[in-house]
Amino acid sequence: MKVLIAEDDTTSRLLFAATLRKLGHTVTAIEDGRKAWEAWQKDEYPLLISDWMMPDIDGPQLCRMIRSEAGLQYTYIILLTALGSKGSYLEGMDAGADDFITKPFDEEQLVARLRVAERILGLHQKLHIQATRDYLTGVWNRASIMDYLQKELERGARQGICTSVMVADLDHFKRINDTYGHPTGDEILQEAARRMSGVLRGYDRIGRYGGEEFLITASGCDWSQAMALGERICSSISGEPVNSRTGQIVMTVSVGIATGCGQGEDAGALISAADEALYRAKEAGRNRVEMSSRMAESRLKYVDE
Ligand code: GH3
Ligand code: MG
Ligand code: MG
Ligand code: MG
Repeated sequence: MKVLIAEDDTTSRLLFAATLRKLGHTVTAIEDGRKAWEAWQKDEYPLLISDWMMPDIDGPQLCRMIRSEAGLQYTYIILLTALGSKGSYLEGMDAGADDFITKPFDEEQLVARLRVAERILGLHQKLHIQATRDYLTGVWNRASIMDYLQKELERGARQGICTSVMVADLDHFKRINDTYGHPTGDEILQEAARRMSGVLRGYDRIGRYGGEEFLITASGCDWSQAMALGERICSSISGEPVNSRTGQIVMTVSVGIATGCGQGEDAGALISAADEALYRAKEAGRNRVEMSSRMAESRLKYVDE
């Protein structure tokens, strides 16, 4: 487990770090609350062991700062209290701590606390997956991909970069279900998600938008790069037949794309634009990529100038 230690007392900090390393954990040990806060923001730490009394930012304050950031991963926090100190457990709990260890610590007590931490973090992880992933295909679920798209649009606006969104809808999918049955349809959906995920770049994300529709976000991707990615998505599906339980099945997908580059781009509006493009891809014969007419217009304007 990746553990962050915030402890201003050198002896105690080194002792905690050495013991945790001996127990097989990866440790970052830091001497004050502010630096620990910076380290926590930069990286993901499932476990923080923080001293209560520290100059500048103390343990409870550090807890409150971490809890006020709605991170994707939960950080389990253990506060250190000196034996006989006046620190109130309730105050620590209210600040967001999960557990306490008194100093000087006893190794067996530490191991026991770590077991609890691992158990709770495991449950959090399981819940997190259930809440954010699509059960059938394992890609992001609708709420998560929408949330991510909105965040990427806001980030793109701040950094002056474009974000593209694609709606990819499997062609004539109803026929697959009708011909081969629902379980085969499910298998095709899983394989389609796997193939499309395989052609994405590092910061791109794919989510299941609805039945046989997927939403792909492509950060830092203008319309021409988005078109190229859309083509790769189409080829990934049509390239070779899917080996299903009922034999080889040829599949195709149609993709609608919209790109947002300015301030105040709204995820919903961008998806509607991509949807309109998807509709045209279907009308034009399926197994193809179309760009939103809104993008096509601005591109023409750009070419004219
Ligand atoms: P088009 O090319 O116009 O998109 O035609 P289509 O048949 O793909 O579109 P339509 O909306 O008519 O049908 C979508 C089908 O997807 C109907 C629905 O039963 C099926 N579907 C939706 N979710 C699932 C699922 O989880 N598993 C399976 N097997 N089928 C699903
Ligand atoms: Mg201290
Ligand atoms: Mg559909
Ligand atoms: Mg379809």
